[in-house]
Amino acid sequence: MAATATERKLLIDGEWIETGDWLEVRSPYSGDVVGRVAKGGAAEARRAVDAAARALQSPLPAHKRAEILVKVAGLIGRRHEELARTISDEAGKPIKAARIEASRAMSTYTFAAVEARKLAGEMVPMEGAQAGEGKLGFTLRKPIGVVGAISPFNFPCNLVAHKIAPALAAGCPVVLKPASQTPLSALFLAELELEAGLPDGWLNVVVGPASQIGDVLVEDDRVKLITFTGSGDVGWGLQERAPRKRVKLELGNSTPAIVAADADVEAAATKLAGSAFAFAGQACISVQRIYVERPVYDAFVEAFVPKVEALTVGDPADDETDVGPVIDEGSRSRIVEWIDEAKAAGATLLAGGLEGELIRPTVLGNVPDDQKVSCEEVFGPVVVLNPIDSVGEGIERANGTKYGLQAGIFTASIDSALRAADELEFGGVTVNEAPAFRSDQMPYGGIKASGNTKEGPAWAVREMTEERLVVIQR
Ligand code: NAP
Repeated sequence: MAATATERKLLIDGEWIETGDWLEVRSPYSGDVVGRVAKGGAAEARRAVDAAARALQSPLPAHKRAEILVKVAGLIGRRHEELARTISDEAGKPIKAARIEASRAMSTYTFAAVEARKLAGEMVPMEGAQAGEGKLGFTLRKPIGVVGAISPFNFPCNLVAHKIAPALAAGCPVVLKPASQTPLSALFLAELELEAGLPDGWLNVVVGPASQIGDVLVEDDRVKLITFTGSGDVGWGLQERAPRKRVKLELGNSTPAIVAADADVEAAATKLAGSAFAFAGQACISVQRIYVERPVYDAFVEAFVPKVEALTVGDPADDETDVGPVIDEGSRSRIVEWIDEAKAAGATLLAGGLEGELIRPTVLGNVPDDQKVSCEEVFGPVVVLNPIDSVGEGIERANGTKYGLQAGIFTASIDSALRAADELEFGGVTVNEAPAFRSDQMPYGGIKASGNTKEGPAWAVREMTEERLVVIQR
């Protein structure tokens, strides 16, 4: 273990717990151990749920919750560079992207604090019906109960923030299971929560075997909601096994963008090259399929490919690096295999390929639609370019996926923009912006195989509360 490596323990009921068993966290770039974390299992998960259930018995007033969330945002600001380095070390994320992620987490906590302060029900217009005459009706928003949160490796800080912060805003204690490859940022945030004054039991973090900890969250009736971000098989499996809980799923995508003939091609190429390869394409909304109307196809290729080739590939710790490694060797060989399969099926390599152990930002043309790089989620630095005859064809082909998270169109025509907004079957549609765009107050989430909910503090808080109707006879 490197001398600078971090050692962290589990957080249960306000205490840092050792288990005698340790999980090593390795840099996806160098393979060096960057940290070790106490490893728990079902027993620790049960203790964590006990602690969260006890915490629920001593509700925290909304203004206190808001104050704590604001303090966490401030503490992130104070230790911003340290948190960004932690994200970069454990995820292999280029440091400049890791800094953005840390800043976004501040924003997520700040927006969640606002939601805590304004959490309220609604008046019900009782006199609208004869039966309601003389009655006063309104709803209260009550915390749903203990929230079980499971987060992925790719945004190990901000996607944890998107689970913890709204849950606390809603008044729900949390049991968090972060990804085993990237638990350090989550435990870093947990430390800040305690420093901000979060009472014991309100946040518990258990790292360890996913199925054991997941089983406890599924089987314990006191866990009322599971919020999961990750792959579809795991997510939908959790929902099937917990039909009586709210199981909120944020899953994958095969993100399409359409470039219409009337678009500003240079601007579209700049936005798409910049966002398709951020964190080596390992974002659920990384642009993967680009459909370009034939009259501007060559111009787009000429503008796009040099921008992609200009991206700096290398050590994530380096300030200049745009694209680092993918998370592990398994992902790397799968992505390389998919690229090779596409080439064997007739695809043209317009940019990229391997550079030592790293996959350079890769652009493929002439890829048949049934190739995995087209129809599955690559989750790697690969983009497929396709000429199309019309915006209509672009919309149809963009929709030709089981996924539905975000999609985008570049066009100067209001009609095309509105048609895309109307017809693209996705949870979010961007116009003249890459569909990889996300700002943390937005409602963000997919339909079809991409999930069943919206995150963003205002939306997540709604999911994490129950509406109780009160009727009073005057
Ligand atoms: P993953 O393998 O599904 O893992 C996600 C989390 O689920 C990890 O904490 C993992 O734990 C846990 N897990 C695995 N098996 C489990 C089980 N049987 N029961 C309970 N938990 C279990 O996904 P990933 O590889 O980390 O993330 C990549 C995926 O996430 C991609 O598909 C991406 O599109 C999606 N994603 C979606 C969004 C969104 O907002 N829509 C955002 C980011 C990522 P271990 O680490 O211990 O295995």
